[in-house]
Amino acid sequence: MNFEIPAEYAELQRGVTDFIDRELRPLEERELDPEKDEVPIDLRDRVRRRSAELGFYAADFPQDLGGSDLPQLGMVLLREAAARSGCRLAAFATYGPEGPTGVLLSATDEQKKRYLVPLVSAEKSMCFALTEPDAGSDAQNIKTTATKDGGDWILNGTKHFITNGKHADFALVFAANDRGKKAQGGITAFIVERDTPGFNVGRGQVGMLEGEGQFELVFEGCRVSEEQVLGGPEAVGMGFYAAMQFLAMGRLSIGAMCNGIADYCLSLGLQYAKDREAFGRPIGKNQYIQGHLVDSLIEIKASKLMTYECAAKYDGGDSVIQESSIVKVYATEMVNRVVDRMIQVHGGMGWMRELPLERIYRLVRILTLVEGTSEIQRYIIAKTMGL
Ligand SMILES: Cc1cc2nc3c(=O)[nH]c(=O)nc-3n(C[C@H](O)[C@H](O)[C@H](O)COP(=O)(O)OP(=O)(O)OC[C@H]3O[C@@H](n4cnc5c(N)ncnc54)[C@H](O)[C@@H]3O)c2cc1C
Repeated sequence: MNFEIPAEYAELQRGVTDFIDRELRPLEERELDPEKDEVPIDLRDRVRRRSAELGFYAADFPQDLGGSDLPQLGMVLLREAAARSGCRLAAFATYGPEGPTGVLLSATDEQKKRYLVPLVSAEKSMCFALTEPDAGSDAQNIKTTATKDGGDWILNGTKHFITNGKHADFALVFAANDRGKKAQGGITAFIVERDTPGFNVGRGQVGMLEGEGQFELVFEGCRVSEEQVLGGPEAVGMGFYAAMQFLAMGRLSIGAMCNGIADYCLSLGLQYAKDREAFGRPIGKNQYIQGHLVDSLIEIKASKLMTYECAAKYDGGDSVIQESSIVKVYATEMVNRVVDRMIQVHGGMGWMRELPLERIYRLVRILTLVEGTSEIQRYIIAKTMGL
């Protein structure tokens, strides 16, 4: 067992940090209002494209699709370094639901060329449309239907909470081809281009962060050819399986982001504890304040180690169902605790929009909910324990 970060990944971390310092921080200062949450879509796209040019964006995708074949351990370290910068634009340089999902690796060669390659180069963006008003955690229970009509499929139904739903060039839409069969052959994934008749963007759904948020997508007699079935016509009924196959990549990615954000928040808290004086001495001299900082450091370290271990096992070809759920639960809950504590360390200033902690507090709250809630991760872990 070797606990050293491999030299090439340390180099990669320096590279992305340098890119963020040289290009993204000045861009953020020029173009973002620090007290507003919204990051305009064209700015996100510019960041994604520049990052792709430099080889950071989607680096874990295969080389023949424009990526760098970077193993997950490298990708985790890259994302952690980007998140640790505290630069808001850095999030779009390495991670984002509008970018390529591992699920598209199940596509046919023709589909990969048409849809995945422009995602990896950040020329296009997508959205992942699984959740419905009556089916979130219980995703097998989706009501959107796919009905065969000659050589085509007709989609009907409503998705909600869809990130990038309004701007995506295409949606990966999960629909029931046979509601009785559910995950066992009853759910198909379709690649649906945004200008397909019957594909409508519904109302926007605004959450804790201001800005455009999520969207409803409404499919009304939306006709797609069987060539739009993810994986081709023979992959009908395989949609749920395709989605489940690449869950670990998403969970690791979120874990890495949490670790980096937590590092950043801890660095703010540590500095404040040294600088701020009360009762004639730095507040960091008080054991209660030390406890907030020390407990955070301990938890960040634990979270990183479990993330690296899971990534290394994934790269070694192991099934990491248990490990990736552990990472998802622990890292997302850890970062919420760390941000909360760092606000406490800052006293009233922590609550103010002048400092980034207030926005990060709202940002990280979503992470225990998306890509499988904490309860669902615990359910998965319980299953792996034979319960
Ligand atoms: C900001 C945001 C962005 C999102 N982006 C997307 C996206 O791009 N694409 C997409 O498809 N979806 C997206 N989602 C949806 C997200 O994945 C779901 O919200 C999530 O899966 C939970 O589903 P739900 O909201 O319907 O909650 P529910 O499934 O109704 O769950 C409610 C509560 O019950 C708990 N629960 C449910 N079942 C069990 C169980 N068996 N055991 C224990 N507890 C259980 C849950 O953990 C939760 O606490 C997004 C959501 C948000 C808020």
